[in-house]
Amino acid sequence: MNIAESVNTIYKQIETAALDAGRNPEEVKLVAVTKTVDAETARLVLEAGCPVLAENRVQSFLEKYEVLGDAPEWHIIGHLQTNKVKYVVGKVSLIHSVDSLHLAEAISKRAEALGITQDILLQFNISGEESKSGASEEEAEALLASVSTLPGIRVCGLMTMAPLDATETETRAIFSGLRELLYKLRQKHYPNTDLKELSMGMSNDFEAAVKEGATLIRIGRSLFR
Ligand SMILES: *Cc1c(COP(=O)(O)O)cnc(C)c1O
Repeated sequence: MNIAESVNTIYKQIETAALDAGRNPEEVKLVAVTKTVDAETARLVLEAGCPVLAENRVQSFLEKYEVLGDAPEWHIIGHLQTNKVKYVVGKVSLIHSVDSLHLAEAISKRAEALGITQDILLQFNISGEESKSGASEEEAEALLASVSTLPGIRVCGLMTMAPLDATETETRAIFSGLRELLYKLRQKHYPNTDLKELSMGMSNDFEAAVKEGATLIRIGRSLFR
C-alpha cells in the first residue's frame, strides 16, 4: 500500500476527467474516506497532500479526531442519528448526509447553542434504490424550503450515491440528475444557502461524477489498496 502514490494517481485521474469535460480540475476536491483504516494510516493520507478526511460513522470519527484533532478538514458522509449530532457539530466542516428536516433541526439546535453556523449538504436518493438513504427528488423543494429557514445552518449543496451495480449510463444519469436538481433549486434563492457543491462519485465511479460536475468526490478503497 503506497498512499502517496494512490493520492497522486487519483489527482491525475481527476485532472484527466475534468479536462475531458472542459472543467477546471481545481473545482474538484478529493475527500478521503478513512473509514476502513486507523488514525495513523489516515495521517498518511493527510501527509500525502489530501487535507480533507471523511468518516461515515460518528464513533470512528471521534476515535480519529482524538488522535488527529483539527489537522484535517473533517467531513461526515454517512447516515447520522439525531442523538449523535452533538458529537460532530462544530468539529466537522461539512455534513454530507442530511436527509430529513428532523435531522436538520437537531443540527440547527446544536449549532445555535454553540453560536456557530454548520455547513451541510442535503442527501438525495436519485436512483430510487430502496437500500440507499436520502430524500426523494420530489421532496427536494419542500425539504430545502423548510431547512433553509433554520438558524445555524448553511446548505452548501447536494449529495448522492449511485448503486454499485449500475451501468455507466445509469450512473451518469443519476449524477446529471443531481446536477440539474442543484441548478433548479438554485433558481429559487432560498435563504441560508450557498448551493455550489455536488458531492458524488466514489472509487468505482468518480470519473463519471467529475464529468457530470462533481465538486467533492468521496474516495476510500482506491486510496488503500
Ligand atoms: C465508504 C463510502 C465512500 C467511499 O467508497 P469507496 O468505494 O471506498 O471509494 C463514499 N461515500 C460514502 C457515503 C461511503 O460510505
